Amino acid sequence: MAHTLLITGGAGFIGSTAVRAALARDDWRVVNIDKLTYSGNLESLAEVEEHPRYSFIQADIADPAAMRAAFEVFEPDAVMHLAAESHVDRSIDSPAPFLDTNVRGTFVLLEEARRYWQDLLAKNPKKGADFRFLHISTDEVFGDLADSDMDARFSETTPYAPSSPYSASKAASDHLVRAWQRTYGLPTLITNCSNNYGPRQFPEKLIPLTIINALAGRSLPVYGTGAQIRDWLHVEDHVRALMTVLARGRVGETYTVGGSNEQKNIDVVRAICGHLETLAPVKPKGVTRYEDLITFVTDRPGHDGRYAIDAGKIRRELGWQPRVAFDEGLRGTVAWYLENGPWWRNILDGTYRCERLGLGTRMEGK
Ligand code: NAD
Repeated sequence: MAHTLLITGGAGFIGSTAVRAALARDDWRVVNIDKLTYSGNLESLAEVEEHPRYSFIQADIADPAAMRAAFEVFEPDAVMHLAAESHVDRSIDSPAPFLDTNVRGTFVLLEEARRYWQDLLAKNPKKGADFRFLHISTDEVFGDLADSDMDARFSETTPYAPSSPYSASKAASDHLVRAWQRTYGLPTLITNCSNNYGPRQFPEKLIPLTIINALAGRSLPVYGTGAQIRDWLHVEDHVRALMTVLARGRVGETYTVGGSNEQKNIDVVRAICGHLETLAPVKPKGVTRYEDLITFVTDRPGHDGRYAIDAGKIRRELGWQPRVAFDEGLRGTVAWYLENGPWWRNILDGTYRCERLGLGTRMEGK
């Protein structure tokens, strides 16, 4: 019998990768609930739109009636909760939507999942016992690591110390999920992952923004000296981790997920420029080397210095490990943006003008 997976935020960067990965399994049905905010893009799902095992609902996770109807109609076996406001800079400019979606939205989803699951336990105890709610979170809930101890890593036992409105709202949502497990027994799991990269990432984030600005001959502004360190993981490796946790993770547990691939922001920008030199040798007028476009700008307030993940638990207990080497994944990502100009040009030319996105003025991983 088909396994039904309800994915929230499936029109986003990670969500659309998860939708495709789940549909690639013969026996899974996917229900994608997405509000289609500025970062939700159905073009990321164009090839599965007509898939017989795929359904899309445009709805806000903070809308209890819409969530209740989705649970009642589709009777999911599992939830993969990815819907969120996800951009740190936006959270600094305007925190309210982060509280509405990441905190209140997660609360509404948990309540509707609990109501559905409790009914399910009574009606179909086996399906109720197997039900899972996987909450996808970030390593940013832990704050940052001191430069003085380069061996330090975030793990499942690291205390929470979020720095930005984004990470504070994600931390709050993690606490709610944990509480719904402890208090009501809802079978939840949490993952805290490091920076993702790969195809279809919204062009406000570091890697796509660098590629797109470089191709246009615009400056490549880097916060501070670009010394901030992030632990980059390819989005497909992240989604494989999510599938693994859903299948074999222990209820009530947290898993930190990362690529053991620490890179300074400036090195990432330089590596992208290097790939562009070979993949896009014909440069915009006046540009001799893509690297010459790099410009250092005033640092972001409260900017975290270093993130690094100890993914030992998910490796040991569940046998997951990343498969995509960073250089190969970055090259593939640059190639994808070069081959898929219409995908990002539609975003830039449409509702979101370059100025509104702040393209050319900001750069950060997430
Ligand atoms: P994204 O911004 O690309 O996608 C978010 C999606 O959620 C969009 O499709 C958007 O339309 C939808 N959404 C937003 N508010 C909604 C609401 N109220 N109701 C329904 N849908 C709504 O984000 P992403 O990078 O794909 O991140 C997905 C999740 O993974 C987030 O929870 C984020 O915190 C987490 N995460 C991201 C990273 C990363 O590096 N991108 C790393 C770790 C964890």
